[in-house]
Amino acid sequence: MKIAIIGTGYVGLVTGVCLSEIGHDVTCLDINPQKIELLQKGISPIYEPGLEDLMTKNIEADRLHFTTSHIVGLKDKDVIYIAVGTPQGEDGSADLTYIYNAARNVGQNITNDVVVVTKSTVPLGTNHKVREVVLANLEGNHCVEVVSNPEFLREGSAIHDSFHGDRIVIGADKEEAANIIEEINKPFGLPILKTSISSAEMIKYAANAFLATKISFINEIANLSEKVSANIEEVASGIGMDTRIGDKFLNAGIGYGGSCFPKDTHALVKISEDNEHDFHLLKSVIQINDTQKTLLVKKAIERLGSLEGKRVAMLGLAFKPETDDMREAASIVVAEKLVAEGAEVVAYDPIATENAKNILPEEVIYAEQIEDAIMDSDVVFILTDWKEIVEKALFLSSLFMKKPIIFDGRNCYKAEDALKMQVEYISVGRDSIQ
Ligand code: NAD
Repeated sequence: MKIAIIGTGYVGLVTGVCLSEIGHDVTCLDINPQKIELLQKGISPIYEPGLEDLMTKNIEADRLHFTTSHIVGLKDKDVIYIAVGTPQGEDGSADLTYIYNAARNVGQNITNDVVVVTKSTVPLGTNHKVREVVLANLEGNHCVEVVSNPEFLREGSAIHDSFHGDRIVIGADKEEAANIIEEINKPFGLPILKTSISSAEMIKYAANAFLATKISFINEIANLSEKVSANIEEVASGIGMDTRIGDKFLNAGIGYGGSCFPKDTHALVKISEDNEHDFHLLKSVIQINDTQKTLLVKKAIERLGSLEGKRVAMLGLAFKPETDDMREAASIVVAEKLVAEGAEVVAYDPIATENAKNILPEEVIYAEQIEDAIMDSDVVFILTDWKEIVEKALFLSSLFMKKPIIFDGRNCYKAEDALKMQVEYISVGRDSIQ
């Protein structure tokens, strides 16, 4: 099978690299020349553990190629994956501009019959429209089928997830097209669920909405636990032992962020509205999450009176550990609030600093080492539980701060550890330690 991937972002690049690793001939296409230049040199433009090694291996094996040219990239291909972004539009819906541009590219450049596979997360009905756009732009007389193949990888463990994921969903109206995509994916050895196109489109939104709901639910229980002196870690363990609930995704904290949950929950609310369905639950999930992102600043003001002139070390900027992705990270909201309160913000992240500089308020100062961020600060905020931050923040705060105080948005420590280090410790869903 000769495969092309349109879009070399977090999903497209990982998909391309993993498909080449299982033996396929893959050409990855992107309109961003800087990205393609780096990729052709074997350098990954994104931070994703294990990605660069696997990429280099498959470039050397001549199975993985990169180009900015749709003419070159789409020539003689049997299967074309679309993995471009579907960001949130102004009204909350998914902006499908990139999807339809990619579909036009396909129509204008294919040289034989193809199956077009949509990896991007797209609203109900989009795959059918993709086929219409491809057909409307066809120059020759080729047969075009579409398959919805939503992606479930998690940034930070994307390579692992591609080889060890829970399932591969293949949504198709034509059995023959589904069989081709099943054949391509068989070497991954993962369970394959074949559905209609509409069900596959819905599965992706429903999965993300459910996970977001789980997070907002545990955060609500955490906020209530604080008021009644229950401990959220104990509560989460207790409910997680029930296999109907499951023990994953029950970590209380300052809410979800990233490139998927925020935009996909908004998009599903919009899909509901467009179909005259009022999705009360999901609207509450979004609202709870928005409030949760401001929780640490609120707690700091309650405890310290004012943050005016206080030096705040903000540890962790990426929306989660092991990624450089800053999209919708809680750090954005926290930094904006801290700056508005008159605090001096010193930020540290092991990987995401360069991306953060384009997004956080210009008043934010960046530390190269975690030590530099904590040194001379009045307050420490933990926003991302990077391994380095968890290993060092408590100890360094006890060492370098005059009156050590940590506001921990990721519940990295046990109360007794903070007590031992004589650090005042305020976390989420647990009693404060003074
Ligand atoms: P991204 O923004 O990182 O990458 C998209 C890439 O597509 C960019 O490099 C862009 O230059 C390129 N592109 C846009 N139009 C193009 C065109 N016409 N031809 C060639 N290249 C083009 O996006 P992402 O994070 O990889 O997400 C892609 C899709 O996958 C989205 O729909 C997203 O919701 C979904 N998804 C993302 C994740 C994730 O963890 N990032 C997980 C599951 C699903």
